[in-house]
Amino acid sequence: MAKYKRVLLKLSGEALAGPNKTGFDEATCLEVARQVKSLVEDGVQVAIVTGGGNFWRGRTSETIDRTKADQIGMLATVMNCVYVSDIFRYVGLKTSVMTPFVCGAFTELFSKDKAVKALEAGEVVFFAGGTGHPYFSTDTATVLRAIEIEADVSWNETAWYPFKNQHRRSGRGINDHASAKKCGSGGTCYDVFWTVVSVIADQTVNIG
Ligand code: UDP
Repeated sequence: MAKYKRVLLKLSGEALAGPNKTGFDEATCLEVARQVKSLVEDGVQVAIVTGGGNFWRGRTSETIDRTKADQIGMLATVMNCVYVSDIFRYVGLKTSVMTPFVCGAFTELFSKDKAVKALEAGEVVFFAGGTGHPYFSTDTATVLRAIEIEADVSWNETAWYPFKNQHRRSGRGINDHASAKKCGSGGTCYDVFWTVVSVIADQTVNIG
């Protein structure tokens, strides 16, 4: 029996790029999909926020307007989710991709109810497009969505955020989670992602 019922994982663009550092490394993405599949088969509900740094970050350009640059970054996260969710389907998982803004028929518009329903049905739910606002990052989106979907725990690159029941406390901001603990450092984003999946699977982490 898995310790966590619902987890939110952050998958950075860098992790998707593998050794290439840019674009997608298909072997890496397939391995990520297989790792997540083992969690789903263990009964864990998995949601994933993807970054976009393998294509573009708002700070990439020193020339264009920052809001426009961030919009490009958010679109990069959508490309990542469309790609990765299909890799996940290839290994036999069911997926859905949700965005905070309309992307035609490519994605569904995010709603908490739809996301929770899909998670309870065993789908891996991807949250693309970050928060939908410039001047934020997908790390912010990770914490935000984790609170919204009532995840037990979320992870963004270096920190665990234990959320159990904390979403119900009024007046608690996302920066108040002082109990966030480092779960990995020194490795690549992919190494850290792998560590996180292993820890969830082994149920050995003490999130305090
Ligand atoms: N972004 C944004 N608002 C958000 C999330 C992301 O404007 O809520 C933009 C921002 O330009 C960011 C880019 O999307 O640099 C890619 O996201 P991020 O840098 O978090 O990706 P990662 O480094 O994790 O791959």
